[in-house]
Amino acid sequence: MTNFKESNLSMTAKLAVNLIKIPSITPNDLGCLDLIKARLSPLGFNCITLEDSGTTNLLALHGTGSPFFLFLGHTDVVSPGNDADWSFPPFGAEIKNIEGTDYLQGRGSQDMKSSDAAMTEALVSFVEANPNHKGCVGILLTSNEEGDAKGGTPFVVEYLKEHKLIPDYCLVGEPSCVDTFGDTIKNGRRGSLTAHITVLGVQGHVAYPQRCDNAAAKAAKLMATLSETTWDQGSEFFPKSSFQITNIKCGTGAENVVPGECYFMCNWRFNDNLTQEKIANKVSELVNSLNLKCEIRYVLNGLPFVTKCGDLLEALNASIEELLGQKAKLSTAGGTSDGRFIAPLGTKVVEFGPRSNLIHKVNEAVELASIDKLHQIYVKTLEKIFC
Ligand SMILES: [Zn+2]
Repeated sequence: MTNFKESNLSMTAKLAVNLIKIPSITPNDLGCLDLIKARLSPLGFNCITLEDSGTTNLLALHGTGSPFFLFLGHTDVVSPGNDADWSFPPFGAEIKNIEGTDYLQGRGSQDMKSSDAAMTEALVSFVEANPNHKGCVGILLTSNEEGDAKGGTPFVVEYLKEHKLIPDYCLVGEPSCVDTFGDTIKNGRRGSLTAHITVLGVQGHVAYPQRCDNAAAKAAKLMATLSETTWDQGSEFFPKSSFQITNIKCGTGAENVVPGECYFMCNWRFNDNLTQEKIANKVSELVNSLNLKCEIRYVLNGLPFVTKCGDLLEALNASIEELLGQKAKLSTAGGTSDGRFIAPLGTKVVEFGPRSNLIHKVNEAVELASIDKLHQIYVKTLEKIFC
C-alpha cells in the first residue's frame, strides 16, 4: 500500500477522492453536488439546483448562446452490497499500488465519480484559460441515474426546453472504455423496450384437457417464436436488435390444475432500424399467426440514438489520439445511459470515460493515471470546439 499524500494529487484526483468518500447511493446526493458547485461558482458559473421527487440535480452554466456544450453525468452510485465482500472499504477512496500501477479504489471510482471530477476540472481549466469564450459551457449532474431517473435528467430536460437551453453538444462521462483507457468512444446507444405479456387460456382440471385451454403451452409457443425471430439485420453503427425473455409466472402451484393465464416479461435492445411501433406490429402479427389471445403492455425505456459524425466526435477523437497516442473505436454496445434523454433534443451526444470493467462490482477501482488523462482529453475537446 502506497501512502499517498493528498497534496501529491492533482485537483481532479482530489475531487474524485472526495466524491468517492460520500456514500451517495441512488437517489441520494449527500453533498457531492455541493463539492462541484464550490469549484464552479467562484469562476462565475450560474449554478442552478433543481430538486424533484427526492432527486437532486445541478445545472452549472458559463456564458450564453451558441455553441452550447454540456457535460452530462451522475453523482449517485449503486449500493456496494455487503462491505465484507470487499477487500477495502467501498467508500474509503484509498489509493493502492498493484503491480506498479496506482489505483483509486471505491464504489463510483469508475461509474462515474472520476469522470465527474474530470468534467468539473475541465470546465475550471477551460474557463480560467478562456474567460471570455464564445457560447456556453456547462455540466448537468443528477443523483438518480442508476435508479428510475424520476426527478433526474428527464426533469431537467423539461427545464432546458422551457428556458430554450438546447445543447448543441453533449459529452457524457460514463465509463466507455473496454480493455485499455482510451480504446472506445460510445457514439450511440441501443433503444430498450419492455413488454409485459399475459397469454390467456381456460383453467381447468388436468384430467379433463378437453375442457381446458392451456395458457402455459400457448405462451411457450409464443416465447419460442419471439426468441427465434430475427428482428432486423443490424445497421451501420449497430448490431442486430436482440430479444430476451426476462421473467415467467404461471400456474397455481397445484399439480392437477391447467393454468388459464401465463405471464411473461421480455425486453428488446433495438437499433435505429426499429421503433416501438414496428416491434409491436410484428408481435401482433406473430400472436395472430399462432391464434393466441394476449394482453400486452409496453414500456419504452429509451429510444436508440447515434451520432454518426461531426465536430464533437472529431474533436474528441483527435484529443484522445493526441494525448494517448491511440485511436478510439466507435461503439454502440452496452446498456442505456442518460444520453438517451438529451439526444431527442437534436443534440449530438457522445460518451467517453474510464474503463468499465469493474462497474457495479465489488472492489471497483480506477487507474489513477486515467483520471488526469481524462481531464486533459476533456479540456482539449472543449478547446477544439471553442477556440
Ligand atoms: Zn453510470
